[in-house]
Amino acid sequence: MIAYFCSMIQSHRASFLQHLGQTSPFPLMLEVVDARGIFLYGPNGEQWMDLISGIGVNALGHADPDIVKAVQEQAARFMHTMVYGEYVLAPQVLLAELLAKHLPESLNCTYLLGTGTEATEMAMKLAKRYTGRRQFIAAENAYHGSTQGAASLMSPTTFTQAYRPLLPGIHHIRFNNLTDLDKITKDIAAVIIETVQGEAGVIVPHANYLQALRAKCAETGTLLILDEIQAGFGRTGNLFAFEKYGIVPDILLLGKAFGGGMPLSAVVSSREIMITLSDQPILGHITTTGGHPVSCAASVAAFNKLISENLIAQVAEKEALFRQLLIHPAIRDLRPAGLWFAIELASFDQVQKVVAHCLANGVIIDWFLFNDRSLRLAPPLIITEEQIRVACAVILGGLDNLSQASINC
Ligand code: PLP
Repeated sequence: MIAYFCSMIQSHRASFLQHLGQTSPFPLMLEVVDARGIFLYGPNGEQWMDLISGIGVNALGHADPDIVKAVQEQAARFMHTMVYGEYVLAPQVLLAELLAKHLPESLNCTYLLGTGTEATEMAMKLAKRYTGRRQFIAAENAYHGSTQGAASLMSPTTFTQAYRPLLPGIHHIRFNNLTDLDKITKDIAAVIIETVQGEAGVIVPHANYLQALRAKCAETGTLLILDEIQAGFGRTGNLFAFEKYGIVPDILLLGKAFGGGMPLSAVVSSREIMITLSDQPILGHITTTGGHPVSCAASVAAFNKLISENLIAQVAEKEALFRQLLIHPAIRDLRPAGLWFAIELASFDQVQKVVAHCLANGVIIDWFLFNDRSLRLAPPLIITEEQIRVACAVILGGLDNLSQASINC
């Protein structure tokens, strides 16, 4: 029976290539039949440690029993009932209340969507309506999503050149560069920026950078939109990454881990700002399945667990252990932000070799969209000390295998 089941699964590989749209000519093709805790399992008994959390999603690991229970109970009660925003649905309300409880007073109103890129799109529309302005500033090497508005914010044109024309009126500043803040004028509707840059390779803001940015936005009446789709929900050692920097954005974007493994994103702002999208015209932004009740139930369960199990308080200690273990002559730079690391090597070739070594030894790591010289690590926050030691031993083994010549190059 098991053999029959496995052969059925095996046959999915050919079909995957034939019938599913591909994002690149070289998909990883890892076949997953089960996932628990920090592990993924393949059809032939393979076990992989997921050190990237499905790109920052599975903060509580896979198949967390409380999240699964919440999903099952909500699915049995009701799933979709009406487009977002019309009916009063307990999972959405409970989630919005939780956010309001844990966020500063001015971030008290939440609009729920499905994906991170939708949150970016919606926030851009909101900023246009609230300010009456049309131009935006984004940081170089930022990633805010792949739909056309969000993609317009990208500075490297590698991924966007073929899709022009995109939105006009987008300007770029260098992350952490104080001089560039002079580009923020009264013509700019919003600055949209990641609190910690992810796809650029885990770049944390310098001391006072975000305060200076906040002050410049306030001076020019420009909204500050912080994208914490990847950085939020405990990843950096605070529930929200901006808490560390003593500032409050006008608009906060959440996604990925926020959904507890289900598709969910949010735009959080003040009621005063949010209300502008609901009138003249009405239905300024609508989504059919955004804030899906099952996703919201998963999110509430994940949120409660993150808080009750004190997982965020353990992030600093676990980060310190990674830092202590990840010492090797091939590492040019180690950039941590809580349980999120960029391990910079000398070349993309080295990165590929280490990623392949890790995969062959049961550990999944990756690189970054705009930084292919760095290894990406973003393990589930539930990772244990023992698992960190095992993971680092495998990574160090991959680094040992790099030839001395390539390390010195
Ligand atoms: N913003 C940031 C910072 C991200 O890292 C991502 C995805 O990686 C997005 C937005 C887009 O989210 P999604 O892929 O859910 O559309």
